Amino acid sequence: RRAAFARARTLPPVTRDGVRIALNMNAGLPFDLPHLAETNADGIGLFRTELQYMIGSEMPRLNAQSAFYREVLDTAGDKPVVFRTLDLGGDKLLPYGRQLHEDNPALGWRAIRMALDRPALLRYQIRALLEAAGGRALWLMFPMVADVTEFDAARALVDHELGRLDRFGKPRPADLKVGAMLEVPSLAMRIRAMAGRADFISVGSNDLLQFYFAADRGNPRLAGRYERLSPAALGLLRHIVTEAEAAGIPVSLCGEMAGRPLEAMALVALGFRALSMPAAAIGPVKLMVRSLTIATAERFILDRLTSPAATIRRELEEFAFHEGVIV
Ligand code: PEP
Ligand code: MG
Repeated sequence: RRAAFARARTLPPVTRDGVRIALNMNAGLPFDLPHLAETNADGIGLFRTELQYMIGSEMPRLNAQSAFYREVLDTAGDKPVVFRTLDLGGDKLLPYGRQLHEDNPALGWRAIRMALDRPALLRYQIRALLEAAGGRALWLMFPMVADVTEFDAARALVDHELGRLDRFGKPRPADLKVGAMLEVPSLAMRIRAMAGRADFISVGSNDLLQFYFAADRGNPRLAGRYERLSPAALGLLRHIVTEAEAAGIPVSLCGEMAGRPLEAMALVALGFRALSMPAAAIGPVKLMVRSLTIATAERFILDRLTSPAATIRRELEEFAFHEGVIV
């Protein structure tokens, strides 16, 4: 297998019926960066910026933040990097931050909620990102967006910082894309209302499914209640793809499931054409893509979205076996 991944490194992720799937990697720390060239991923589809804040002993200053982002962009070269703005709270805590007590931290004051209530930190981070881009293309996305108004408020902070660049005579990014993570189920019902507002949507399936099933993503006792290959989960993901298409908003998925070949096969069958995953998954998922015929897989999965079963994992495994899909 390892040899097969190595051979596939320079081959394109194209299905047997000729559809190109973008395979991006997830990153967050300097040691992740060399994997971009090693795996030949299309780009970084999720850059978890809070990791840099979580490993230090104090809040990094503006210059340190922007030097770090510049290094990331320099390393990526022409490949896109999607920076996810600070996603703190819940399972992601700062060692030097004041710890608030909340009975339900995953459902609490976190991520974009905290950022909009205390915008100084987010504005500072956006400023560092814009300065790091220095006129190059820049992709940003906000975590835990639950409604259109939150997205608009966050985007307004970006506009404010663009105005500041102008005042200081600094260049705006050549191309700026501002997107929303879709990881709170309520946003799945607001996709058409996001038309013309969000430049892209990236599904954070780890949190999305945690909130959808009301099942803690990190609790092994609940693993069976957090089934990515259940008709419930797959139906929701299908809804997201068709709504995003109707709204004209490009959609991708960056949760861990994108890195599991069987799950990735289901995602492509549901209509996803861009995935972002841990670097080590690029090779295995590419082999899956290159052995898949989408038309057949799509028919197979759509027929099973109404199944009364709790999961269609076995059926998908059998499908892959019969069709010769490498999962
Ligand atoms: C997610 O929730 O699916 C996601 C990609 O973000 P994180 O795992 O960092 O919460
Ligand atoms: Mg998340």
